[in-house]
Amino acid sequence: MIWVDGMEEDKKEIVLKNFIQKIIEDDISNGKNGGAVITRFPPEPNGYLHIGHAKSICLNFGIARQYGGRTNLRFDDTNPAKEENEYIDSIQEDVRWLGFDWGDKVCYASNYFDKMYELAVRLIKMGKAYVDDLSADEIREYRGTLTEPGKESPYRNRSVEENLDLFEKMKNGEFPDGSKTLRAKIDMASGNLNFRDPVMYRIVRASHPRQGNKWCIYPMYDWAHGLEDSIEGITHSICTLEFESHRPLYDWFLEQFEEMHHPQQIEFARLNLNYTVMSKRKLLKLVKENHVKGWDDPRMPTISGLRRRGYSPESIREFAAKIGVAKMDSIVDIALLEHCLREDLNQRALRRMVVLDPLKVIIDNYPEDQVEWLEGENNPEQENSGTRKIPFTRELYIEREDFMIDPPKKYFRLSPGKEIRLKHAYYITCVSYKTDENGNVTEVHCTYDPASKGGWTEDGRKVKGTSHWVSAKENLKVEVRLYDRLFTKENPDEDGDFLSCLNPDSFKVLENCLGEVSLKEAKAKNGEYYQFLRQGYFSLDYDSTADKLIFNRSVSLKDSWSK
Ligand code: ATP
Ligand code: MG
Repeated sequence: MIWVDGMEEDKKEIVLKNFIQKIIEDDISNGKNGGAVITRFPPEPNGYLHIGHAKSICLNFGIARQYGGRTNLRFDDTNPAKEENEYIDSIQEDVRWLGFDWGDKVCYASNYFDKMYELAVRLIKMGKAYVDDLSADEIREYRGTLTEPGKESPYRNRSVEENLDLFEKMKNGEFPDGSKTLRAKIDMASGNLNFRDPVMYRIVRASHPRQGNKWCIYPMYDWAHGLEDSIEGITHSICTLEFESHRPLYDWFLEQFEEMHHPQQIEFARLNLNYTVMSKRKLLKLVKENHVKGWDDPRMPTISGLRRRGYSPESIREFAAKIGVAKMDSIVDIALLEHCLREDLNQRALRRMVVLDPLKVIIDNYPEDQVEWLEGENNPEQENSGTRKIPFTRELYIEREDFMIDPPKKYFRLSPGKEIRLKHAYYITCVSYKTDENGNVTEVHCTYDPASKGGWTEDGRKVKGTSHWVSAKENLKVEVRLYDRLFTKENPDEDGDFLSCLNPDSFKVLENCLGEVSLKEAKAKNGEYYQFLRQGYFSLDYDSTADKLIFNRSVSLKDSWSK
């Protein structure tokens, strides 16, 4: 487990150090890097961040904070064809919202393009890089496999002078896209395929969000990433496991330039979650093909989607702490993420009453025009959370499912002759009901016990059911949006076609819900979290207007996460 801000003091004591913390503590005690810890979070701005990125963010920023270091936010903007400023903005918003700070400047890989070019020229001069005319397909073909060595390119032995000339011409735009590459000259028979003359530059004419048309050659990840880390003085370059076999190449490139700082790459297992997809390519497809309403659709595993759904940054940080950091790939149950949200919101959400499917109740013995302003606590988990006023009147609404004419055994809600408690109000007993021609109940008549104000009686008689309710006279019409998993399969990719198991019932709108009047303030206090009694945790959706409040159900109350 890793310590992150927000974790309770007493939990810190028992937190076990993960393997990355151990490496860092060793480095500090050996005086490596002068004891400094500088990490980075290096997203490619080709989509919105998702919950997997949140794991990496909490890890990188959390660890630097723990050891008094710092973390760079660096855009790995080396592939202009897929990158956009919209993504750059959203990524900064998401990292900040998660509670992390990268100091006063954002880093961009593209700021180092000149330096990278200069180093590539040096590598050519050392005879360790060459311009190749093979096409991408041919390069793949020549590469060999894990069991067969690769074949050397016929262009591999060009002279240094020729390579310098061709590389400069590549940079100057004298060759068409894809016609040439710059490759490192290492070992086509290496057991590590990454060493088989990896491509360092390719020719792509694409306008870059920050560099415009200055460049038509762009560096490849393996070449660029270590240099970016080195230039920024990163001490520990933490990345996901699939880069493990790239580490020797990361090291090889840096070893060629003696004067350059050499960060240590450390790999950890990426986060996988069931019932969702996480690759940006797939998330982009969901957005582009309108399977969801955008990157911030509350069903998306994106940070912006989770935020809109009503997730708190604290709950996501706690989730990251709970899943921990390991070297083994695994799949985390999405129920754990939901569990973390419930635990957090239970402590902070304001309790409110909202009836999703209203059924009218008339209290026959209650004065016709009377309005009593009763009190309800905002949050029983928080002593100082205060109270709010709830109007009680003769006509009320309860949840339709809280009344049955002919109930089965063990049904403890309202039915003819039965008594229940109305939360924060009175005990009521059903005396009669009316139905329409189809047998649907249209209204329920009750009597109330005036001596049970506040929801308890002096004789101490017990009722098993407690219902939430709203006044029929003093209430607020609200829209409620309910969400379910976006996919019906635990592994949506099982058949290679994740779109085939989209859940057709993942989104439901309830337009005629009634809430207590205190919810009027929700708009002004945007960003508050609510628990609608017995219905779950909710937050106000951005689509709300002053006249129409819309609430998203963040998560239901029932916790299916079991240890
Ligand atoms: P995707 O495959 O979803 O497009 P990516 O790895 O291409 O993700 P980047 O923008 O390159 O996305 O990722 C930025 C950082 O976030 C990298 O350091 C990467 O290792 C990390 N990261 C991405 N996905 C996950 C994940 N599922 N779990 C943990 N870390 C992740
Ligand atoms: Mg990537």
